[in-house]
Amino acid sequence: MVAKSDCIFCKIVAGAIPSRKVYEDDDMLAFHDINPLAPVHFMMILKDHVDSLATVTDAHAAVLGRMMAKAGRLAREQGATDGFRTIVNTGRIGRQDVYHLHIHIIGGPDPLPRMIAKD
Ligand code: AMP
Ligand code: ZN
Repeated sequence: MVAKSDCIFCKIVAGAIPSRKVYEDDDMLAFHDINPLAPVHFMMILKDHVDSLATVTDAHAAVLGRMMAKAGRLAREQGATDGFRTIVNTGRIGRQDVYHLHIHIIGGPDPLPRMIAKD
């Protein structure tokens, strides 16, 4: 496992910072967002440290695929039975705050606003 010592999500993976776990296997972890934007709001992360979607490589293609394949089941188990939104904030323009690649799974509010407000 590749970890980065100053990364908050690597610390969550290592158990050094607590989290409310949704799912875990050898390669990925899902846990509730500490500041939820909806009744269902959790994140899926790779256990390896990867800064962002902008820097991910083919080495992580398989686990990223497995994460996407698991998202629907985990979302339903958490109560998002009628859909949800996946968000991967990336870099400065994407307003990424935590530089450890994560997929937000957000099940609400109902209805969610359209993706980007258009003037
Ligand atoms: P982003 O803007 O996509 O980088 O989002 C980072 C997310 O991480 C925010 O929604 C935070 O609420 C969440 N977050 C930060 N620290 C923690 C933590 N210790 N446990 C769970 N979620 C966290
Ligand atoms: Zn990390």
